[in-house]
Amino acid sequence: MSNPSNLDTQSLSAWVDSIWEDEIVPQLTDYIRIPALSPLFDSEWEESGHLEAAVQQVEAWSQARPIAGLEVEVVRLPGRTPLIMMEIPGEPGDSVLMYGHIDKQPEMKGWREDLGPWKPVLEGDKLYGRGGADDGYAPFASLAAIEAVQKHGGKHPRCVVLIEASEESGSPDLPAYIEHLSGRIGQVGLVVCLDSGAGDYDRLWSTTSLRGMVAGDLKVKILREGVHSGDASGIVPSSFRILRMILDRIEDPQTGRLLLDCFHVEVPEERTRQAESVAQVMGESTWSQYPFVENAEPMTVGGPNQVLARTWAPTLSITGVDGLPPLSTAGNVLRPSTSVKLSFRLPPTADWSECTQKLQEVIRESAPYSAEVSFTPEKGANGWNASPLVSWLETALTESSIRHFGAPPAWMGEGGTIPFMGMLGDKFPDAQFLITGVLGPHSNAHGPNEFIHLPTAKKLTACVAEVLDAATRA
Ligand SMILES: [Zn+2]
Repeated sequence: MSNPSNLDTQSLSAWVDSIWEDEIVPQLTDYIRIPALSPLFDSEWEESGHLEAAVQQVEAWSQARPIAGLEVEVVRLPGRTPLIMMEIPGEPGDSVLMYGHIDKQPEMKGWREDLGPWKPVLEGDKLYGRGGADDGYAPFASLAAIEAVQKHGGKHPRCVVLIEASEESGSPDLPAYIEHLSGRIGQVGLVVCLDSGAGDYDRLWSTTSLRGMVAGDLKVKILREGVHSGDASGIVPSSFRILRMILDRIEDPQTGRLLLDCFHVEVPEERTRQAESVAQVMGESTWSQYPFVENAEPMTVGGPNQVLARTWAPTLSITGVDGLPPLSTAGNVLRPSTSVKLSFRLPPTADWSECTQKLQEVIRESAPYSAEVSFTPEKGANGWNASPLVSWLETALTESSIRHFGAPPAWMGEGGTIPFMGMLGDKFPDAQFLITGVLGPHSNAHGPNEFIHLPTAKKLTACVAEVLDAATRA
């Protein structure tokens, strides 16, 4: 680094703690109450007004922050979810693009009795409720980091904060906004994304890769209507078994390995090395962090293998089903059809459209018993793999992680998808990325009992502030 920083990191840290306590926790508490489902889970989102309420909450809080030069605008393209854009002037040079989202995953079942998705509960270090960790804290933490730099003698580059409202639907609205705002966003040197995971709550975690995704509905229909299973079984094949036969073309049922070549890529050597250090840091929690039933075992053994399996391996999950009644009303019927939602994760460098096309081919070729078989794909997303880390950022991350967490940072791939990062990687191939977040063990962003771990969120905010300051001395 060329010049020493004037940032007073000690008072910054204390100030960040207090803005979290006095401002952000109360804001997040209100935000959790809003059922701001992503459009995919609330097709009536415009009428229900919940996304709008979340947008207005963030807008109002942001407008009131005493940040020099801050401009807040809600941009609205017709027929799309709104986007909050904030611009904060700074030192000359490339801008920093900070990203987060305020739309939420659906409720999910299985919340602890005294908890619920729209019921904020503060318990020790944790604030429970849907959307606090994924990703409602992002706009608050982003602005707090900028304000912290300004208040404590530091400098920051020009910052553009983009908060979208369609991320959990695969960010369908975002590309149009990026194009629309391209001139105002300008040249980006650093992307800070606060929507990612953490292997534990003891250090700063920096995401090195994200998986892509492909999804769609697979439907098998054999009868025009249901018939008595005692009468017809033996002659009429079960639609469920036909579905299994088709799934077996895609996935090895014994191992879970996907059978189509285009779903596999070569894992870069550096990522394999990083997986080994991550496995060391995480120990057993590479698998024990998941709520396995007693005595159940993971499908992949060995820490480094597990780290790579959730970040670089392609996988299939069945996430929904149609055509099957609940057990309580299931009669002796050969049902006419069975449909399932296929949800694939792809390695960071696989191509989602090629994978989707290959799936179509494999599913459509010669249907068993000439049944009606269809696959309706959804829009997928490519993953993302970071370009090599530059030294100023590595130094800044290391120093700030040690200062605030008391341990050096860790670099890890993530299993989830943030479609926007793939887009940004293509648009700004030379930019550096700090993709981080508070989605650590048990935070359970898409399941029940989601929580944000507040000490981690505070330390993360302080680290981001220091990285902004360091970026002016890159
Ligand atoms: Zn998210």
